[in-house]
Amino acid sequence: MSQTAETHEFQAEVSRLLEIVAHSLYSERKVFLRELISNASDACDKLRFLATQDEKLAEGGTDFAIELKADKDAGTLTIADNGIGMDRDDLISHLGTIARSGTAAFMKALDESKRKDVGAIGQFGVGFYSAFMVADKVGVTTRKAGAAEAWHWESDGKSGYTVVPAARDARGTEIVLHLKDDAKEFLDADTLEDIVKRYSDHIAIPIKLGERTLNRASAPWTRAKSDVTAEQHKEFYRHIAHAFDEPWATMHWRAEGKIEYSALLYVPETRTSDLFHPDRKHGVKLYVRRVFVNEAPEGLLPRYLRFLRGVVDSEDLPLNVSREMLQNNPVLTLIRQGVTTRVLSELEKKAKDAADYAKFWESFGEALKEGIFEDKDNGTRVLGLARFRSTLHPDGWVSLADYVARMKPGQEAIHYIAGDDPKLVAKSPHLEGFMKRGVEVLLLSDPVDEFWIAQTDAFDGKKFKSVTRGGADLDKIAPEADKKDEAKPEETSSDAAALIALFRLALGEQVKDVRASQRLAESAVCLVADDSDIDIHLERMLRQHKQLGFSAKRILEINPAHPTIKSLVAALTKADGDTAMQARLGEAAKLLYDQARIVEGDKLEDPAAFAKRLSQALADGFI
Ligand code: ADP
Ligand code: MG
Repeated sequence: MSQTAETHEFQAEVSRLLEIVAHSLYSERKVFLRELISNASDACDKLRFLATQDEKLAEGGTDFAIELKADKDAGTLTIADNGIGMDRDDLISHLGTIARSGTAAFMKALDESKRKDVGAIGQFGVGFYSAFMVADKVGVTTRKAGAAEAWHWESDGKSGYTVVPAARDARGTEIVLHLKDDAKEFLDADTLEDIVKRYSDHIAIPIKLGERTLNRASAPWTRAKSDVTAEQHKEFYRHIAHAFDEPWATMHWRAEGKIEYSALLYVPETRTSDLFHPDRKHGVKLYVRRVFVNEAPEGLLPRYLRFLRGVVDSEDLPLNVSREMLQNNPVLTLIRQGVTTRVLSELEKKAKDAADYAKFWESFGEALKEGIFEDKDNGTRVLGLARFRSTLHPDGWVSLADYVARMKPGQEAIHYIAGDDPKLVAKSPHLEGFMKRGVEVLLLSDPVDEFWIAQTDAFDGKKFKSVTRGGADLDKIAPEADKKDEAKPEETSSDAAALIALFRLALGEQVKDVRASQRLAESAVCLVADDSDIDIHLERMLRQHKQLGFSAKRILEINPAHPTIKSLVAALTKADGDTAMQARLGEAAKLLYDQARIVEGDKLEDPAAFAKRLSQALADGFI
């Protein structure tokens, strides 16, 4: 065409991918057509959307179609669309690098499997590059809507690609596949029709072969619920979500009344990589009377449901609705409320199958929990949907309803412990007394937990209480619990009281108080927060985020039944005014206090002094 052909190399990952694609399983090759049709359909949607803002772009009409042409003599299959098209920069950035989700996921799976071939390439849909499964040369001629010049991209899928100026009257893209010798079956009309019906029937614009339209060309959400098969849902979900897994839940309904809309929503099976991306976009597209208007308008869904994928199609919004108009739009607000209620009901229904629900919870629970405090209307419902690890079920998932049903006689609160590391949390000394009495404690270790728990008063009338805060009140709970091997508080109290008094003196301003503990069984000491202070873990988190400039003083609890404390009590009794021994016991108090800080994950105020004391104690033979 022109002498100004520019030669480009593929990005290294693309070359790797192409090598795999070229040798991929024979039986999976047919998915190339699904991928190219999916791109053509996306290109038409994009133009339809942009044309609502700039009419000039729609020059030549908006009767969108995807055309297939099979030329048996030339051995070529052509896929043409009248969508948005590409300019030179688009060609280079989109058809020479890996930026797309599906492809990236495939490469990741490949790296993880550490094999050259992960087998099911068709499952991933490697996008445009799948053309090289069936073709040994691919030509793309394209003109971007609104642009004067056209471009031709060409590659053999091995040695890079060329880009040259080209001639093309119409906007849109034409992809010519020079089929490999063993892929000539894709010139056969029946074969093409079968593939389109199987994989691309959900595409809303007509896919034509000559005069015939091969697909139904009606968007699936406009059809009756009973008219869409599970297989069609799967294909549509993969197309719309650019995903390669299967929907875990499918919700398809039509709302009529004050406002009218259709919704077709999916919950993915696997966690999406952008779940905690800073913009946290959701994945539900907004259509207005079958026309695509916005990729993921803010306000269509609450943020905590951002794992949803699919389509909402409104009858009430104007077609040319702008981004600004969508903000605080009353129609959108009503849709959001309707969609939220519907999705929560579906989750409640699916939660009855605990094993299946666990899959969902492990993927998206962390996001859903944000709804407990973000959604003023539905927070309690979301709390009911939440699942937790607990001391009784450290590897399972416990609902608050289960927890409450198992509460011990005399137990008034829902006890929890919060921390960063689930393994460390489960080993905290604060749990010992609770475990011993069989009182279940929720183990919270997601960052979001501190937020909802700080803002949630109660569940089913039961308050939440951190085991690191206030008195443990364990006496009231399960009072019949094995008292035999417990040190009798009346007997130890006066001796322990003397030691406590000595500890208070030795630690001075470092602690708020020293007292005997109910929550310890195996450990000698622990630190707790006073009832009026905030939870230890929350305080540490706020300090890390510089939202808190101080730290509250802690209460040191000691376990009178612990051998170490017992021997300290005995030493104190024997000391009887021996000031040297009293000084050594003061040192012991400081050692134990620092030890409690270490267990808590806090920094020591004076690590050097701690080291010195510990060495001294070792030298003394533990007093
Ligand atoms: P994905 O569809 O997941 O984005 P693909 O590899 O299938 O990944 O396509 C890469 C990109 O190439 C698309 O995102 C799009 O920008 C561009 N593209 C591919 N085919 C077309 C087409 N027919 N018209 C316009 N752009 C296209
Ligand atoms: Mg694609």
